[in-house]
This record gives sequence, C-alpha cells and structure tokens, in this order.
Amino acid sequence: MNLTRRNFIKAAMATAAAASVGVTLPKEVEAAEAVDKWVKGTCRFCGTGCGVYVGVKGGKAVAMKGNPDAKTNFGFLCVKGFLAYKCMYHPDRLKAPMIRQKDGKFKEVSWDTALDYVTDKFKYLRQTYGKDAVAYYGSGQCTTEETYTFNKLFKGGFRSNMVEGNPRLCMASAVAGYISTYGSDEPVGSYADIEKSKCLFITGSNTSECHPVLFRRIMRHKLTNPDVKIIVCEPRKTSTTKIADLWLPCDPGTDLAVFNAMIKYILDNDLYDEKFVAQNARITNGKEVKTIAEYKEFLKDFTLEKVEKLTRCPAENIKKAAEWFANSPATMSLWCMGLNQRVKGVWANNLVHNLHLLTGQICRPGAEPFSLTGQPNACGGVRETGALSHLLPGTKPVANDGWRAHVEKCWGVEPGTIDPKPGFHTMKMFDALGGEADASKPIKAMLVSTTNPAQSLPNLHKYIKGMQDSFLVVLDIFPTRTTQLADVILPAAFIYEKGGIYGCSERRSQLTEKAVEPVGQAKPDLWIAAQIAKRMGMEKLIPWNGNDSMKANEMAWDDYREIIKDTDHTLAGATYSRLKKEKAGLQWPIPSLDHPGTERRYVRGSDPMFNHEGFKAKFGITFDPARKINFYNDAKKEGKANIFMRPFAGAAEVPDADYPFYLTTGRVIEQWHTGTMTMRIPEIARAHSHAYLEIHPEDAKKAGITSGDMVEVASKRGKCVMPAHIVSGTLPGVLFVPWHDQAFVRMINFVCNDAVDDTSFEPEFKIAAVKIKKVSGPKNVAEKFIIRDVNSKFS
Ligand code: SF4
Repeated sequence: MNLTRRNFIKAAMATAAAASVGVTLPKEVEAAEAVDKWVKGTCRFCGTGCGVYVGVKGGKAVAMKGNPDAKTNFGFLCVKGFLAYKCMYHPDRLKAPMIRQKDGKFKEVSWDTALDYVTDKFKYLRQTYGKDAVAYYGSGQCTTEETYTFNKLFKGGFRSNMVEGNPRLCMASAVAGYISTYGSDEPVGSYADIEKSKCLFITGSNTSECHPVLFRRIMRHKLTNPDVKIIVCEPRKTSTTKIADLWLPCDPGTDLAVFNAMIKYILDNDLYDEKFVAQNARITNGKEVKTIAEYKEFLKDFTLEKVEKLTRCPAENIKKAAEWFANSPATMSLWCMGLNQRVKGVWANNLVHNLHLLTGQICRPGAEPFSLTGQPNACGGVRETGALSHLLPGTKPVANDGWRAHVEKCWGVEPGTIDPKPGFHTMKMFDALGGEADASKPIKAMLVSTTNPAQSLPNLHKYIKGMQDSFLVVLDIFPTRTTQLADVILPAAFIYEKGGIYGCSERRSQLTEKAVEPVGQAKPDLWIAAQIAKRMGMEKLIPWNGNDSMKANEMAWDDYREIIKDTDHTLAGATYSRLKKEKAGLQWPIPSLDHPGTERRYVRGSDPMFNHEGFKAKFGITFDPARKINFYNDAKKEGKANIFMRPFAGAAEVPDADYPFYLTTGRVIEQWHTGTMTMRIPEIARAHSHAYLEIHPEDAKKAGITSGDMVEVASKRGKCVMPAHIVSGTLPGVLFVPWHDQAFVRMINFVCNDAVDDTSFEPEFKIAAVKIKKVSGPKNVAEKFIIRDVNSKFS
C-alpha cells in the first residue's frame, strides 16, 4: 500500500467514524464485526480518554470501535485508537522475563528467578547504600492501581521518596500552575465546555495532531456555530493554526510577553471584570496583595508595539485577541506541552489563568482554562495518586505533616516513617543514577515501568551512562531504547490483557475491563509490584498478589479510594462495580455512590465539596453561604484564586551567531510517544515512519536546502541527521522535528535542552538553539525503524 499521508489519515478517520455510527463499513471493519464479544475500555494513547470497545474473537483482540456513550469521544476514534489492538500480537512482544548475562546477552528465565534476582539486588543495594539507592520511574501510561501500588511500595514500604514518573516531563508545569493559582490540581470544568464556548484560545497545543478527537469536537462546534472565534498562539503554522480566525505567531518562549500584553490591554481598556476579581481573586506578586493600579504599573512596558518587536507577534493581533478573549460570552483556553515543557512553564500557565480570572471567564459553561494531558493516565495515575517525588496520594505534598500522618495511618505503617523530604525530580534522579563504582551517583538501581527514558529524556547523551551502569529493571511490552540498557526485562501485559482505571484530562476515571489473556508469560505491572513487595517482606502493605488481575485491581483501587475519600479529589462513589456499569466513567469529586460526578468545580450547586462535612472538617474549610464561587483550597482560607504578576522571561537558550535557529519539537497524528506501539501498527508506521526537519522556505533557500535533502541539526548537546521538509507559513527561523523516531541518528532528544523550570522541574523540550547544514541530497531513509532485538546495541 502506498498511500499519501493525507489520504491515509482521511481513510483512517472515515473508517473510525463509520465504525462508531454503524454506517456502511469498509472491508476491514466488516470482518472485524464478527466477534465473540465487545469489551469496554479506554484508549491507550493521547490522554483524550476516548472510550472504546475491544472486539474479541477466539480469545484474541481483533478489532476496536468507539464507545458511542463515552462523553469524551461520542464513539469517534482517531487512527491510533482504532488500530491499537494490532500492536498486541506483533512478533516483537516481550514474552518471558530476561536477565542480562556476563557476556552482555539476555537469557530467558522463569518469573521466580527474575523476581528473586531483582528483589535480592534491591535488598543488597538498600542495605549497602541507604533507602534512597533504589528508585522507581513510572509513567502516565500505567493504570491508576499500578501507579498507586508502586508509590505505596516505595514511599510506605522502602520509605523512600525516590519515586518519579514521566508526567514530570510533560505536565508538571500545568500541575504547579493549577496548584499555585487555585490551590488544587486539575481543570475546573470539562471537555463539554468546548461546545459551550464562544471563543477558544488555543496555545502551546497542536490539538489537531496531538488530541485529534478533541480537535474534531472543536471543528464541529465551529462549523455549526460560525460565530465562534478561534485564536491560536503558536510559533508554527500547524494544522491547528490553519483553522484559526486569528493567529498569534511568536518566537518560542516569548508568549509570556504576548499574554502580559493581552492582560495590559484588558486592564487599560476596562475589559476586566472588576466585581469577579474583587470577590474571587487576589492580585499578588507572591508576597503581597496588589491593586489593579499596581498591576497596571507592573505591566507598563508590555505595550503592543514593544511586545511586537520582542516576539514578532503583530500588535494588531494581540489587541484583537485581548478583545475577543475578554468580550466573548464564554472563552475557553486549551493548552498542552507547548506551554508546559519550558523553563518558565509555570509562569506561562499562571498567565493564562490570569486572563481567565481577570475577565471572569471561569466557572461558567464554556468559560474555563483547560490543560490537556498527553498520556492516557498522567492525571488519574501519576498526578492524583501523588506518584512524584514530592507528593502523596491526593496530590498532597509529602512535606505536609498532617497528610503524611493520615497516609501512614491508612497504610498501617509506623507513624513518622514516611520521609518528609521530597526525593529527586526526574532530571536530578537520572543525573544521580550510576553504578556502584561511581561514588558520585547515589542512586544505584531503578525500576522503570512502561516508559522509555533512554529515548525520551532531553539531552540524552548526559544520561545514558547512568542507565547503563546502574542496576536497571524495565517493565515493558516491546524492546525499546531503554531495554537496550537494562539488566532485567520483565514482560508486561497490555491494558486490554489486564484491565484497570485511566483518568483523563477532565478528571474522568474510566474502567477498562480485561478482554483477553496476556501473550506469552507477560504479567500485569500490579502483579509484578505485589510480588516484589511479597519478596521484600511487605505483603501486609500490598496484599493484592493473586493471579486474578481484575480482583487485584479492585483491591488496589479501594485502598486508594479510602485514603482520598475526604479530599476534593474524592472517588468514594466510584466503586469498581459502579465503574463497570458507567459507560462514560465518572468525574471526581464523587463523594458518594449516588453522586453523578462533577462537571464543574468551585461552583455552588455543581461542586459537592460545598456540602462535604468530612472534607470541611479535615481541612478546616468553611464556606460563606453568600458566595456562589469558592476556590476552597486557597492557602489563606479566603476562597480566592491568585492572579500572579509574572514578568517576561524567555527561553533558557536563544539563537545566537553560532546557533541561529530555534528548534521546537512535538508529535504527529499517527505516532505516539517514542513509537514503541504505534510503529508496530503497520498501517500507521507506513504513514509517518521517520523524523524530519520542518524548515521555512526562506531559511531553506539561504542554507541551499531543497526538499528531501539530508540536513544535520545540531545544538551544543548533540546532533541528528534527517530529511528536510520545506513548509511555508511558519515563522522563519523556527524549525520543528517530531520525536517518535527510534533511529539513533534521528533521535532529536540528543539535541533538546534539559534545563528545567525552577518550580515544576519540567525540562525545556520545546526550545533549543540550533544550527543546520546540508549533509547530502535526498537519501533513502529507512521506511520503518524499530528496536527489534533485545540484544542489539544502543547505537
Ligand atoms: S484521540 Fe487520543 S484517546 Fe482518542 S482515539 Fe485518538 S489517541 Fe486514542
């Protein structure tokens, strides 16, 4: 099959849509319809949380279709979700545990041998080097039950806070933005606000490729309501930008100035909602409360003209965006990693929240600041269960004495034994990872679950040796760049082979039922965690070590629900038996079995926390009966949100004479994360197999580059070589490379910057200064490259 990318996407989307509404079906779906049963689940990929049904025939998954009752996708799926089942039976699946031998090659072993080996090694390293010598690195792709269990094992069992997960690399700035502004993580409203909005402000999100089913909702809303305004703030003219009524192009990292200019224009022209601000927010520099007049003075240099010069964003566009944002009956913002993966990601998030709070565009239907997540369970799993080095379940800080005592009591561990000191954030953790021979590296071992840091970390060269030298245990379903550096590989079950809960961006938890048996000897991560716990003498802490995966899932889920039942994240009403019946899942807070879930937080009549006595007592919160809105997690207990005065600060690295271009990175619709799964779905792999360098025609001309030429792109940290794609429309001087390609020479993370935000510790994947040079004319780039052999070298 030799389809163009455009035709491929069209065909795939049409197929997906047809399957969901039952119209004439293409051949592939017709065949797939003859299944034994359809089993309810959630999509494995982008974080939209599309509801699916897995078609099972003869004990194997043979088809997928959208769940028409799902509130996330109403039955539609993108090409990845629709074809996900195809990777499950790829011949590369890891089917048996393996231990690396003295000759460097892996040898298959039994589960008992592998688990005994891992546990003995962990015991020895903890005993020799201290409790923090063994770390866990998890993923927004694990189920909530798995992430919760590993967090419990390490923080409650090992008494170590060396627990991190890859959402640190994609969503940490959004978390810190929500918590610093409102006192609590995760969005106020729901995806349903898309259809209620009259203005959509999309910034740092190429929604069309990264969250395609949500983009479909946006497009349909716009098509049926042409008066809806769409503003996109992005350096690139992406496929999302192409549907915008207004584009705010600006150099990478300069959007903070654009947001401040919008705020200044809103304040100077009395477009703000004075009453809303007085009742529900405070303007602050982080130390003192400030007045509107003082905020105006703070913003005095953010004139439209000056900001145009600084950012390249036309003054007229900024003015129009400010007017549309403030004057619209309902404005919704959507953002993702373009805002988060930055050294000033938290400030960028704060400024978007400021726009909403100042204009009162929040806590109403269609009016809300909504951060999208890029993984199926970054929210429900890692954020909500507190599986980061500074958190405990309920997204509460490990440093909080009261909450630590509560968790210790629930877990039945001795009071005062959970470490109050946060562990290392992701980049510091990998920096501190090394072998026993290197005394400067305090972390000696790491258990990596369902993620691929040896491809996905920025500034990769710096971190490979640590992974190679340490005792590295990797749970995954396929060979990856990370398994190439591992000492032990444990074959993991796929989501439809084990079941479990995913929580998507809109606070919605959805249950996936186990549909089929795992391939080979693959096992659920939950079983692996519980077996390690048992061997460590921690069976009492984690007793769900039986072979019935759904039963173990439910035990872990109930344990987690109990801890958070008196928080604003409460899932008390979301029992397994209820989630099995709820076709669309449930949005927290869900305080009781008869509660329908919460579409909008902080609003009386919608948010159940206003009447939750346990919550009020536990956190000492009172609600003023006269107030409709209450940001009840406010540290000052005034029920107000913070409007932070944030100055302009750009990227950690800006172009100069030696490295004259901005490089930004991202995803394409067909491929997901490091391509581990999507590159093993033949139709998708063919459609977009390799990385490329997107370059503006003017820049290409100056560098003597024509389409398809092989170009070297280099930063101070590393270089890659890949074909050029000449794309007009984007800002000259800005280059783009997608990051799914596993080929060593095209892994763009060698080039990316690992400088981190000083609050969220999220690295600046999105911006690096680079130079380019033509290496040769067009070359036959391998159509499809994946790591197939566990014994192949990392090169
Ligand atoms: S939009 Fe995201 S969640 Fe939905 S089918 Fe596609 S990859 Fe899956």
